[in-house]
Amino acid sequence: RFKAVLVERGADKKQSVSVVDLDESQLMEGDVTVRVTHTTVNYKDGLAITGKLPVVRRWPMVPGIDFAGEVVSSSDPVFKPGDRVVLNGWGVGEVHYGAYAGLARVKGDWLIHAPDGLTPAETMAIGTAGYTAMLCLLALEAHGVTPAAGPAIVTGASGGVGSVAVSLLSGQGWQVTAVTGRAEEAEYLKSLGAAEVLDRAELSGAPKLLGSERWAAGIDSVGGTTLANVLSMTMAEGAVAACGNAGGMDLPTSVAPFILRGVSLLGINSVTVPRERRVEAWTRLARDLDRSKLNAMTTTIGFDDLIPTAQAIVEGKVRGRVVAEIG
Ligand code: NAP
Repeated sequence: RFKAVLVERGADKKQSVSVVDLDESQLMEGDVTVRVTHTTVNYKDGLAITGKLPVVRRWPMVPGIDFAGEVVSSSDPVFKPGDRVVLNGWGVGEVHYGAYAGLARVKGDWLIHAPDGLTPAETMAIGTAGYTAMLCLLALEAHGVTPAAGPAIVTGASGGVGSVAVSLLSGQGWQVTAVTGRAEEAEYLKSLGAAEVLDRAELSGAPKLLGSERWAAGIDSVGGTTLANVLSMTMAEGAVAACGNAGGMDLPTSVAPFILRGVSLLGINSVTVPRERRVEAWTRLARDLDRSKLNAMTTTIGFDDLIPTAQAIVEGKVRGRVVAEIG
């Protein structure tokens, strides 16, 4: 038997969360069983556990959208017992029992072998948030925008996606403007490589059709008015990778940045990325992410801290990344 976090919904549709004991027979279908050694708390895990947005679509559910672990048994020829693996996304923790448990049973297609050069703890210190920051960087690079074109902006900068994005972009030679609502994190953001820290309030007013051109590239985890303002101040031919909704699902913008400046909005969905690009993103993370910066942004917690940390992340109270030791 093993411990698991379980979210349930009563007849009144009210959601509750508790820690329960499960056995292997209660896991959902899959061809690879993994002993979870590390997981993390992403914003989406916070939404799942608090029910703030309908992330969980199958009840009851073991939350946790990503894990690192060791294969226990496998009928998928790609994986054998003892292999170190990493999983991000694929509806795990949403519609398929997830990472907040001692064991997980999943489809082999959803797994990759753990990337060389990263420990299991480091892969979950990066987690889906950091992996998504890399997908954003890869999208900007594929678009052809480079540090020579101008500065880069990162919104939600003290959060998980934001902290990894600041570190990665500065490591690749970008001059980074970090946007935060937490003035007290300015020194932290500069230690990750931000050249400038901007108060979130400066991007929260009604956006102009076009503002002064301030950045050539952006990684946005906030959405809403923030993203609309970022777009209106993006330089001609620049690009913004949008991956989040921490500030809202809406996007009160106009076509002006697109048709008058050739600005591109690049959508990023980390959940169903083909294996080849997942491996590319993790290989680049192993190569490019500064380990001392990763350590500086990471807090380590235990299984019993998962629920309170999930509650804190949706309140914007978690700085950087969290890694949870399970096994
Ligand atoms: P996180 O650690 O909580 O970071 C979010 C940050 O956004 C906060 O730290 C805060 O930064 C800022 N923020 C929060 N509420 C805000 C508000 N009302 N207005 C403006 N800024 C606000 O969460 P995360 O795990 O990095 O995830 C960030 C976002 O990306 C979430 O929306 C998540 O769902 C999304 N995401 C999407 C994908 C995908 O596949 N598309 C993958 C991963 C994450 P400051 O305190 O510095 O202002």
